[in-house]
Amino acid sequence: MAAIILDGNRIAGEIRAEVASEVKTMTAAGMRPGLAVILVGNNPASEIYVRGKVKSSEEVGIYSEKHTPPHTISTQELLELVMDLNRRDEIDGILVQLPLPPQVDSKKILMAVDPAKDVDGFHPVNVGFLSTQRPGLVPCTPAGIIEILKRSKVPIAGQEAVVVGRSDIVGKPTAMLLINGNATVTVCHSKTRDLPGVCRRGDILVAAIGRAGMITGNFVKPGATVIDVGMNKVTDRAEFDRLFAGNLKREETFRTKGWTLVGDVHPEVAEIAGAITPVPGGVGPLTIAMLMANTVRAAKLRRGSRVAELSRA
Ligand code: NAP
Repeated sequence: MAAIILDGNRIAGEIRAEVASEVKTMTAAGMRPGLAVILVGNNPASEIYVRGKVKSSEEVGIYSEKHTPPHTISTQELLELVMDLNRRDEIDGILVQLPLPPQVDSKKILMAVDPAKDVDGFHPVNVGFLSTQRPGLVPCTPAGIIEILKRSKVPIAGQEAVVVGRSDIVGKPTAMLLINGNATVTVCHSKTRDLPGVCRRGDILVAAIGRAGMITGNFVKPGATVIDVGMNKVTDRAEFDRLFAGNLKREETFRTKGWTLVGDVHPEVAEIAGAITPVPGGVGPLTIAMLMANTVRAAKLRRGSRVAELSRA
């Protein structure tokens, strides 16, 4: 039987509507949440991501501003910009779009962001808060994965969860959130032995690898919930045929654009899983929605007592 499709666009829409309503209340009380995005240089992919983040902020009513220093900026100059944003009370969230140019010390910049304004949740202080279950800011994509599971009523507690990928931005924080949700979690990576066998243990299988369609049917326990984080552009005809042979809609896209987007999960898995996120339209839309939610959360955590007064009024 074909898997239930977990519609990321619908869930992201729900979250954006909830965020917009909170922003409206906070704005009426003179506490409009604010997000500052730093985009260094002219990386075309980064420009697209930042445009999406600014547009989404406007849609939910968050104040946003974009800083676009030239690609020649030094670490010191960028640090000064971050420090200035750290000091400004009307800015609740600071997002430094990666990658930064090679002359800039990225780690130094990310460490300089005030953890209370770190809406990406990458600062070691927030990583520590997550692992010790204290209130903090959680990376957007992992937080979005948990929202998909919860809002789709997929049980987490007591389930076997397998996460393929151990990056700091996706794999590790996703595993930590699943542990915090009382799942029994296994984290896999490129050195894992018998990857298909380990993956088949998962009632929940999260693929965050960066390899087109690597998770094929033999990696999946029948009826499992499969979360596909991967976003891979397929341009090669043979690769396309391995993944989408006979799919007329995809064939049309591939012919007109010369590429198509595929996750880390092979389309054949939809016949084995109980539920699955599509690519595109699964995890992707949640990432920006959770950035909006994180900005509101940062505003509430930072302006704690003032927001509490607001909810009592
Ligand atoms: P990453 O930093 O490259 O990490 C990839 C992980 O996969 C690593 O832990 C790596 O293992 C593991 N891996 C690679 N090849 C493997 C193999 N053959 N078998 C088992 N494990 C293997 O990637 P990432 O930043 O986590 O991103 C993962 C994917 O998610 C990418 O496709 C990215 O585009 C996508 N993504 C999507 C969103 C979204 O909003 N939808 C957001 C972020 C990322 P080692 O540690 O041993 O090298």
